[in-house]
Amino acid sequence: MPPKKKQKKDNGYMVFMKYMKPQLESQGHRFPRGLSDVIPVCNPLWNKLSPEEKAKYHQIAREGSTFVKEERCDTRGVPLNLKEKEEQKKISEKDQVLQKVEDMVSYFATQETLDSHYFHFAHFNISVATSEKEYPPCELAIVKFSLLDGIAKCYHEFIEPGQIRLGYAHEAKLHSESTHNIPPIGFKLANSNYVAITDKIKEFLRQPDGGIAPLFVVDEDNAKAIYIVDWLVRKSSQLDDAYDTVSPFRIYSLNKLFYEFRRHADLNNPKLRFSSIALVADHFNKGMFFYSKNMACQWHVEEDNVTFCSLTRVRNYAYTISDLCCEYYGLALLPNRHCPAEIADDNKYVVDPKVIKEEEPKTQDEVKKKKEEEEISAGPRVPNTPAAANFKGPGIGRGILGGSMASSATPSPGRSQAIETAPAAGRGRGRGLLLLDDDSD
Ligand SMILES: [Zn+2]
Repeated sequence: MPPKKKQKKDNGYMVFMKYMKPQLESQGHRFPRGLSDVIPVCNPLWNKLSPEEKAKYHQIAREGSTFVKEERCDTRGVPLNLKEKEEQKKISEKDQVLQKVEDMVSYFATQETLDSHYFHFAHFNISVATSEKEYPPCELAIVKFSLLDGIAKCYHEFIEPGQIRLGYAHEAKLHSESTHNIPPIGFKLANSNYVAITDKIKEFLRQPDGGIAPLFVVDEDNAKAIYIVDWLVRKSSQLDDAYDTVSPFRIYSLNKLFYEFRRHADLNNPKLRFSSIALVADHFNKGMFFYSKNMACQWHVEEDNVTFCSLTRVRNYAYTISDLCCEYYGLALLPNRHCPAEIADDNKYVVDPKVIKEEEPKTQDEVKKKKEEEEISAGPRVPNTPAAANFKGPGIGRGILGGSMASSATPSPGRSQAIETAPAAGRGRGRGLLLLDDDSD
């Protein structure tokens, strides 16, 4: 019998990587080549650990703790022994989803990318809700949003809800008339190419590393959204036999994200904390921006029904969050990105002098390259960028919103232009250019 091969022990760094891998995956990272792909993402995180924190991992490595081998930890990084596994089971699914959002925000905050990271907010209109818990969709809107850039991109679509379940035709008609007005049957703009729609959503959510970013919806829409993304995948596979039946979509709590944005603006300032996540919904439901210009899709503008449009809803999420968070991150509000353009006022809007950051560099080379790029972009602003001319600083472009929004609300919105894309984000360009793009619309 050959002598037993002595197993090579992990060092502290390996332990850390194995611990982080599942967490990073839950945040959307993909590591097709295993741990070697984890290294570039983990390096900067490891370097940020205090000597005491590193010592903890070294100790686990020396003791050969089992949790590392199993790679099973709870979302806070606590190893799951048998007893804890039992406890974990008891935590409701809802709490786990909330915890994921909390971990995600903490992670980006540690990386100092919380303000530049893009999150995706979604809203769905449905033709009817049945007692069988079916929610066939008829309209969808998603925005790509960061605190720094505001709304970078929009996706909007009318969806063919398909045959309405027997006995629900009247209810569907009533629901349409009392809300979004979209006809439940025979709507000429409805798209029935579910493969194309599902693929477009995937593309919209595609992350630089190939993963699919989660969709954030308000808590009251959670069940509906979970049903609809599955419904889209199912419909797609009915149209195309070869279509991947595994849903890549994840639905997260937008209320929790908003809550965490505020909390992380200054962890030491309890005043920034909303008293509860449930109360966050009130801010969205106020619909402070429902009647602003350029909120709804063109069809809803023509219908003179802007408030129920999915596009209005997602833009309202973005503007409400910007209104109540950007100030505390020292970020200026950009028209049609953080707030409706009509609120923009040269005297009140300033260009944030902060250097625009790229999203997490993956390798040391990228870190170096990024640094070089930053040095270039951090140079003096070119005279013909409108930033210096259009804006007066320093200060923060807020204060007007909280007070005068109600009075600026107008029931006669202009025509919406953004169906698929908002003005290009143009990272690395002077932020003032974005305004020019917007104004030229
Ligand atoms: Zn609409």
